[in-house]
Amino acid sequence: MLFIVVSLFFLVLFLIIIFCLYRKKKNKLQEKKIALTEKLDKLRQEENKISSKINQFENKTSQLFTFYDTTRLISSLFGKEKLVTAFINKLNSLEDVEEASLSELNGVNCHKFPVGSEGENLYISTRSFNLLLLAPMFAKLLSVCFERIKLYARLQELSIHDYLTGIYNRRYFDQRLDEEFKRAKNLKHNLSFLMLDIDDFKKINDTYGHLVGDAVLKRCAALISESIREIDFAGRIGGEEFGMILLDTDKAGAIMVSERICSRISQEKIRVFDENIGVTGSVGVATYPSNTIYMDLLAEIADKALFRAKASGKDRVCWF
Ligand code: GH3
Ligand code: MG
Ligand code: MG
Repeated sequence: MLFIVVSLFFLVLFLIIIFCLYRKKKNKLQEKKIALTEKLDKLRQEENKISSKINQFENKTSQLFTFYDTTRLISSLFGKEKLVTAFINKLNSLEDVEEASLSELNGVNCHKFPVGSEGENLYISTRSFNLLLLAPMFAKLLSVCFERIKLYARLQELSIHDYLTGIYNRRYFDQRLDEEFKRAKNLKHNLSFLMLDIDDFKKINDTYGHLVGDAVLKRCAALISESIREIDFAGRIGGEEFGMILLDTDKAGAIMVSERICSRISQEKIRVFDENIGVTGSVGVATYPSNTIYMDLLAEIADKALFRAKASGKDRVCWF
């Protein structure tokens, strides 16, 4: 009996100890959980603060930024903050848009703001006083936008020409060749590719210097342009290498034009500063479809013909 009582006592004692240990562990876990929740709350608060700051910044700047970025002119050169600062400076330096005048657009009475140098206007039809208060600012933004878009268009225009000679650059020349080749194929027209390389140009550079060399290149490009028709086009495809595309021109015609270009170049004494410089050029001719029906091969064949012209003494036209 005593044994059973003692056993029960120890069993109860054991259970109490286990229960206490369990409670202690549970409390510890609870404390840890509370601490983690507090940490999480703090992090959330921080996060909210940061995102509201970002929102504030973006609300203040997004309108300006979007407008400036539309032009894609300088956005690649600056970070966002510099861009916004530059834009605000620009905006502040602008003259106010002229007072809005009342005008009628498609039968609707509007407030008219002049926003572009070429007579562009912004028409706003509203009864909201708040919107009208914002309108001059909006018009000012729009006028900057117009100015930038025009500049961008001018830049695009410039980017098809070679900076030195003013004729097409390589990229645009290739693009035009691609278009014209497809057209010639569709219309079953001939198309000729002339490749002209100035002879011994290195000697000209070495003798007179690069500046004179540049002026010679410029003059050669002008002579080439003057020697081809309006519908044909020329591009600078390498340092002292020019390409010409003659539309609807067979091989005999292309050879004739090439001879004419060569003799115009060789007959002229190009005057740069006080020097009169004699220059010659060699030309390789390739014609679609008599040489090839593939566009890529056309340039290759013209190049091979040019090589032959160089190897056989320069200042001449060669073809296959
Ligand atoms: P070849 O008759 O065999 O064509 O001889 P080359 O001397 O004309 O040809 P080469 O390829 O040896 O030299 C071409 C030179 O053209 C070398 C390069 O410095 C010069 N060049 C390339 N681009 C320009 C440029 O924009 N301006 C000037 N001044 N020189 C250039
Ligand atoms: Mg050369
Ligand atoms: Mg060359």
